[in-house]
Amino acid sequence: MTTRMARFHSLEVASVHQETPECIVVGFRIPESEQADFAFVHGQYLTLKLSVNGEELRRSYSICSSPLDKDEVRIAVKKVPGGRASTQLVDKLKPGMRIEVMTPMGNFTTALDGSKARHFVAFAAGSGITPILSILKTVLRTEQGSRFTLFYGNTDQDRIIFRSRLDELKGQFGERLSVHHILSKGVDEDMLFNGRITKEKAVQLLQRFVSDPMDKEFFICGPEQMMVNVSEALENQGVDKKHIHIELFTTPVATEAKKPTAVEDTGDFDGVSEVKVIMDGREHLIKLSTKGDSVLDAALDAGLDVPFACKGAVCCTCKARVVAGKVEMDMNYALTDDEVADGYVLTCQTHPRSANVTVDYDQH
Ligand SMILES: Cc1cc2nc3c(=O)[nH]c(=O)nc-3n(C[C@H](O)[C@H](O)[C@H](O)COP(=O)(O)OP(=O)(O)OC[C@H]3O[C@@H](n4cnc5c(N)ncnc54)[C@H](O)[C@@H]3O)c2cc1C
Repeated sequence: MTTRMARFHSLEVASVHQETPECIVVGFRIPESEQADFAFVHGQYLTLKLSVNGEELRRSYSICSSPLDKDEVRIAVKKVPGGRASTQLVDKLKPGMRIEVMTPMGNFTTALDGSKARHFVAFAAGSGITPILSILKTVLRTEQGSRFTLFYGNTDQDRIIFRSRLDELKGQFGERLSVHHILSKGVDEDMLFNGRITKEKAVQLLQRFVSDPMDKEFFICGPEQMMVNVSEALENQGVDKKHIHIELFTTPVATEAKKPTAVEDTGDFDGVSEVKVIMDGREHLIKLSTKGDSVLDAALDAGLDVPFACKGAVCCTCKARVVAGKVEMDMNYALTDDEVADGYVLTCQTHPRSANVTVDYDQH
């Protein structure tokens, strides 16, 4: 997606808006000299480095603004119960404060083309609306012939993040934008709009609102179970996986299917490898056991300032390219099949499987 090196910059918080009782929208001031570093595409995220009770935490937050709004880079943070970073941000963040913010990343996007007329369909729940809002605004302004349908799950009306912004956008884009709220504690006469987004409900929503013949791109962002339900509904309806885009905010617990085989079970080399790590044009040699730490942890232990955030295979902050040797990933929920075919890995999940391996963080 980008060849720019992942770097933290100290950014000033320009605005903090209380969106719902649990969610704030944070705007960052990007100095003129750093605008190129913070150029992003719709659907990408920022990683924040925070100190919480003396502990350094890195957390990713999707950008909710559109790259077409030049002066704005905004994220939305929703407090999760007992959440260390999100609680500190929602309770304490004020305009004028500075935060360490990494340059934008992420694959939850698709190339847009002003000459195309397509139907974009998104399923979001809770804070999963954040990247979807950026995608929605960018799609409708870039592809004048395209339309967008959003299915948006929440507990109740008061917790709907960007509710009034979505109403405004409906006013702006008219019939090109359809927004359907599905409330788990809802009391709508039509039961389709009440309850959680199950597989059956996803099928019914698709049948009722997405039966047109236009080419389609699907985006899903929300809790793991909703992601599983909706992707199964789409695959059952014959939608090609390459048109289904998924962003996970937490490491999945139920989705075993995408987990590659355990490291111990495969490969033709079992021992200590010499791993050459390329970073900022310099080479560093690390000895690493095939059954030991990940390449990322080994590089961090060696004192290298390699990029990372979730360490759980859901973000792609620690992405690098394997340019020599054989490796294996434990899990991958973030890289596309094309990226994996091109030799890209999540280094937090990567173990050497040959005597010599070269991993290049400069090819991000
Ligand atoms: C690519 C990406 C984009 C993201 N975008 C956003 C965003 O736009 N807005 C946003 O608010 N968050 C987003 N997140 C989630 C965010 O990075 C943090 O995981 C979240 O704020 C919780 O961090 P914490 O330190 O507060 O919780 P922790 O202290 O790490 O966790 C506390 C407890 O909460 C659970 N938990 C952690 N995250 C969640 C969650 N998302 N939902 C429910 N339970 C959780 C943990 O399992 C743990 O039990 C994104 C994550 C990724 C990987």
